[in-house]
Amino acid sequence: MTNGVREVVRGVPARDGAGVHLTRVLGRDTVESFDPFLMLDSFDSRDPEDYIKGFPMHPHRGIETLTYLVKGEMEHRDSLGNSGVIRDGGAQWMTAGSGILHEEMPKAAERMLGIQLWINLPSGEKMAEPEYFDITEEMTGVAELENGSVRVVAGEFNGVTGVKPRHLQVTFLDIGLESGSIEIPKKPGETSFLFLLEADAIVDGVNYQEKSALLLGDGDSIKLDASNDPVRALFIQGPPLREGIAWGGPIVMNTPKELQQAYLDLRNNEFIRH
Ligand code: FE
Repeated sequence: MTNGVREVVRGVPARDGAGVHLTRVLGRDTVESFDPFLMLDSFDSRDPEDYIKGFPMHPHRGIETLTYLVKGEMEHRDSLGNSGVIRDGGAQWMTAGSGILHEEMPKAAERMLGIQLWINLPSGEKMAEPEYFDITEEMTGVAELENGSVRVVAGEFNGVTGVKPRHLQVTFLDIGLESGSIEIPKKPGETSFLFLLEADAIVDGVNYQEKSALLLGDGDSIKLDASNDPVRALFIQGPPLREGIAWGGPIVMNTPKELQQAYLDLRNNEFIRH
């Protein structure tokens, strides 16, 4: 049984950081329907001028960010003393928790193709210890299909597993479909969506445009079809939190008071707790 698409969100061009051109897909308008996913930015450029200025030092609290690069390179550095590079096929799952300061600087590459997803933390885990989780291609699983493959970054698909997330148990699949179709099982009661990273695709019989996020209905599976060109789509799923959201820039708390406290902490140099 399948049960189609409940909501379609088209990405819009935006600028963030020190002037990075990106496509903002999810954001403030979609927090309720896409709960626990707060934001989705999509990067796709062959011109380094679009992204080279990067995201200089900035704070985060109360969320996790998952950066996944299909192609490209991004250097990162943070207040915990971590630094590293995300490369082709790699991801970084950062728990901001009680607070970190970090910078994210894409390097010039032939093409930068990837996403950054903001995942909300449950109220009891918002002030958790900050943590970096670097995910290399080898740590992910691959399910080979006759007509493509599914990279399991987190969660499970067809018995193939990826990494186990530290907080919310999010499923993150990178689906490459050369032709034909694929049936993707989903967990009833969880929020799930497809993001069409490359090429238009047919989902449950309806054609959708590239760079769209498709919020899925209550069914226990969804059918993705390549229409003309090979499709690359991300399948993302997680349990909704249904908690208050107080969102100020890179900080997302439950109440305005907690948000105020975060900005007070920043001003008083008390932001870093761990
Ligand atoms: Fe950041």
